[in-house]
Amino acid sequence: MRVILLGAPGAGKGTIAKLLSDHDGSVQISTGDMLRAAVKEGTDIGKQAKEYMDRGDLVPDSLIMRIMEERLQEDDCKNGFILDGFPRTIPQAEELKKLLAKLNMSLDMVVNLDVPKEVILDRLTTRRTCSNPDCQEIYNIKSKPPTPEGKCEKCGFPVIQRDDETEEAILNRLDTYNEKTAPLIGFYQSEGLLRNIVSLDSKKTVEAIKRAL
Ligand code: AMP
Repeated sequence: MRVILLGAPGAGKGTIAKLLSDHDGSVQISTGDMLRAAVKEGTDIGKQAKEYMDRGDLVPDSLIMRIMEERLQEDDCKNGFILDGFPRTIPQAEELKKLLAKLNMSLDMVVNLDVPKEVILDRLTTRRTCSNPDCQEIYNIKSKPPTPEGKCEKCGFPVIQRDDETEEAILNRLDTYNEKTAPLIGFYQSEGLLRNIVSLDSKKTVEAIKRAL
């Protein structure tokens, strides 16, 4: 499948993308994960991206397009991909359209994960993430806590609250989403690709996406 997942931070894009990827082997592409790995490795791109990310601001479109242009041409994208966290602005969506045309690829569907704001806020403030860039398992202090020592159950690395998951950064990320990313819903509606799914249960959402495909 070639699918874009839209939705506010905390809407569950990462979880749904993983489940869809397990279903048919399409690769999950998360620009957030790629950027966090670049920051950790201290690459040029990581150094440029870090200050924007820590504030909860978007990284400049030109930098994101550099990453995505390379990524979409890697071999594992031939069997399909699930874009999680990209595009995030109208210019990124327009650039993606040109890029896909150049690569002779077309999108099957754009899914908007529709989740109430109270649910989003609660999820984000209680979310914790494994600090190992190769793992990044997501925890939740209420529903899925890490080990009593605060370590990841999968790899043993410390489980942390991300710099962009402080309350101030979260509120900034939600404002940024409303201003810059929510307009993509209209963009993909007019492209005839949009499906809105009220998403509270990830398994049910995945079933709905599979049926719609
Ligand atoms: P995420 O894990 O998808 O919430 O992404 C974490 C952070 O990475 C965001 O708050 C942005 O600073 C940055 N980021 C991820 N994807 C993009 C994108 N497509 N465009 C701009 N910034 C991005």
